[in-house]
Amino acid sequence: MFSRIRTRLAVLYAGLFALALCLVAGALYFVVAATVEREVRSELVASRTVFDRLWNMRSHELGNAASVLARDFGFRAAVATGDRRTAESALDNLRARLGIRVAFIVGVDGKVTGVTDPALRRDAALLWPALDRGEFKGVASLGGVSHQLVAAPVMAPALTGWVVFATELDRREMRSLESLSAIPIEATVLTRRNASAWSDTAAGIRTADAVGIGHFIDRTIASGVPGELQTGGGTAIALAKPLASIGDGEHAALLLRYPLARAMAAYLPLQIAMALTGLLGLMLVIAGSWRLSLSITRPISELDRAARRMEQGETVEVRVDTDDEIGRLARSFNAMAAGIAEREKRITQLAFNDSLTGLPNRAFFRQHLEIELRQAAHRGGCLALLSLDLDNFKAINDTLGHPVGDALLSEVSARLRLAAGDALVARLGGDEFTLVLSLEAGQDGAERMAQRLIEAVAKPLEIGGHDLAVAASIGIAVSPIDGEDADTLLKNADLALYRAKDEGKGGYRFFEAKMNAQAQARRLLETDLRRAVANGEFELYFQPLVDLSDNRICSFEALIRWHHPTRGMVSPIEFIPVAEETGLIVPIGEWVMQEACRRATEWPDRIRIAVNVSTVQFRRPGLLNTVLQALAASGLEPGRLEIEITESIFLETSDTTLTMLHSLRQLGIRIALDDFGTGYSSLSYLQSFPFDKIKIDQSFIRQIATRPDASAIVQAITALAAALGMEATAEGVEEIGQLDELRLQGCGYVQGYLFSRPVDAAGAQALLAQCDSVRNAA
Ligand code: C2E
Ligand code: MG
Ligand code: MG
Repeated sequence: MFSRIRTRLAVLYAGLFALALCLVAGALYFVVAATVEREVRSELVASRTVFDRLWNMRSHELGNAASVLARDFGFRAAVATGDRRTAESALDNLRARLGIRVAFIVGVDGKVTGVTDPALRRDAALLWPALDRGEFKGVASLGGVSHQLVAAPVMAPALTGWVVFATELDRREMRSLESLSAIPIEATVLTRRNASAWSDTAAGIRTADAVGIGHFIDRTIASGVPGELQTGGGTAIALAKPLASIGDGEHAALLLRYPLARAMAAYLPLQIAMALTGLLGLMLVIAGSWRLSLSITRPISELDRAARRMEQGETVEVRVDTDDEIGRLARSFNAMAAGIAEREKRITQLAFNDSLTGLPNRAFFRQHLEIELRQAAHRGGCLALLSLDLDNFKAINDTLGHPVGDALLSEVSARLRLAAGDALVARLGGDEFTLVLSLEAGQDGAERMAQRLIEAVAKPLEIGGHDLAVAASIGIAVSPIDGEDADTLLKNADLALYRAKDEGKGGYRFFEAKMNAQAQARRLLETDLRRAVANGEFELYFQPLVDLSDNRICSFEALIRWHHPTRGMVSPIEFIPVAEETGLIVPIGEWVMQEACRRATEWPDRIRIAVNVSTVQFRRPGLLNTVLQALAASGLEPGRLEIEITESIFLETSDTTLTMLHSLRQLGIRIALDDFGTGYSSLSYLQSFPFDKIKIDQSFIRQIATRPDASAIVQAITALAAALGMEATAEGVEEIGQLDELRLQGCGYVQGYLFSRPVDAAGAQALLAQCDSVRNAA
């Protein structure tokens, strides 16, 4: 309930106001009460004087009447002669005339005349001693009731008795006395005989209050100062005053009381007026503070709502009506919201755009692809995802530097964007681009697009004075057949891209389901290969090369074998490419080099060892070291080591490759060009480096006996080699017919199953021994 500022403010203000009101009311009450009490006290003192005067007046009246009667001749005679009837008739007469209820005569002999009530009579008789002492005025108790008494002596001429007049001090009498006062006081006459308790014969006070009142009288009667008196009827200011009494041990007192409540009653209208005003004020304060807090909290609530909407990503602006603090807060909020929106826009731009090319990046493309996929699924259409990769970007970047690489990427991006038309092109990173295309009429659209992109990239390009030839390969995956979600589709397009690259670059390839299995098998092979390197699951086999001039083994080619724990022997044709791709060829190559050199030292000195070295090994640093270490460790003569490289080494010719070849050559190591005639065969390679040997590829040898053109090629290569001062070796010689033909064409060296399959180290030793024994036998 108090969680709202509005309620809290209203309660706070109302509470403060109520407190202030209570304080004012309390102070007022205190002042009023003090004033009232002071007034009452002075009124009481004044009333006492008035009362005294009244009392004396009355007593005087009675005394006059008594004196008049006592001086009446007839009456005196009647009393003197004991004529009761006359005396009583005179008393009756006077009683009726003056309205005095009690009048009697007390004789000097103590006899009482004029009273019939026995109790009254007895009490009247008791007055005699006091009368005899001359006590003529005072209060006395007659028949249990307090009376104001006045007596006068009857002289005839000697004292014959006293005539006594008494007024009963009952409630009525007291009322008439009270009514003569200016203020509404309560007057009570209390009497006491000897030490007994004060009592009020007119029953003007309640029995419960009697004791308290008695104490009050005892306490204050001497001082005559008004005091506070607590009774069951509430607090009263009271004044006690002694009254003259007649009789032995008789005491009388007058108690004047003024209840405070009655005094305060005069102020009741004021109090009510104040309470009503306070209540009205309180209501006004509540209403006012509610309104005020509403005016404060309403804009705050509005800001709160706006902040929530902003959190939900909405663009918000709060209306500003006022110029106060809240108005300024709202203005600041609006400025903040605008700032956030602006920054968000910039962040989004940075987050979703590639800064180099300005193309959407991977994050944006993924979102876009997901949306496109959903829409295509909805309308039952197909989407093609084209994954594009530049074929020789790395080489350009490495050789010409990053600024040229960046400029190339920007140019390629622009071309792709132009060629793609409406389709969205994105750069996923590096030289990887991708494009999503809605397929309306089968896969033709994707094919045409791939072709267009490849052509666009392949157009001649000049950057920083360099004429660059760039090509791109593309993999295509089509939804929903090749995948229904973005991840699968991207992965499958990539698989198709790898395949396109494998199959010679600059082309495109659609994804096929079997690529997945192949990719998986490849991944498995990779993990197995890592383990094989660690576990040393390799062995070297050796295949002899025969010198046709003397039909003797002149060297062995080291060929690696992998004893896979579950698959058995795995061909190098299968695992060498994977090793090259993963870089595992480096540790494998080191091992081969070490092992080959070590084995060669077991052979006669004239037998050389040929070791295949991958292009990847040439690209990595450390090859020279590996060779030197192998030679040093084995002690093999460098001239007995032959390194076989393939033409692919020249595809990315760099000075470092050639330098490396020359360095090896300078060590005395022989360099052979393997598999000559396949791949990119270019005669210029032969010019760029002085090889020691050319190994003519098996594909020519296979057809040499049957196809004259193959025979012509072999003859040409052999002649070329001879002209360049290089040896020519024919690979894959399986049949005697091929051998005859090779001899005819002038080929000097041969290698093939016709002589021996690759054999293990022991087999190589055996071959050497056999060869020697054959020769010896010859
Ligand atoms: P390569 O260097 O051209 O080796 C010759 C291949 O031809 C060997 O296959 C060999 O067994 C095979 N061969 C020899 N004579 C005949 C024949 O008469 N008929 C037929 N059909 N084949 C014959 P292998 O051992 O399977 O090696 C295949 C390729 O793997 C090698 O071709 C070489 O490029 C690569 N390789 C083998 N060992 C290594 C190695 O230690 N390092 C590197 N980097 N590559 C290696
Ligand atoms: Mg070879
Ligand atoms: Mg070969």
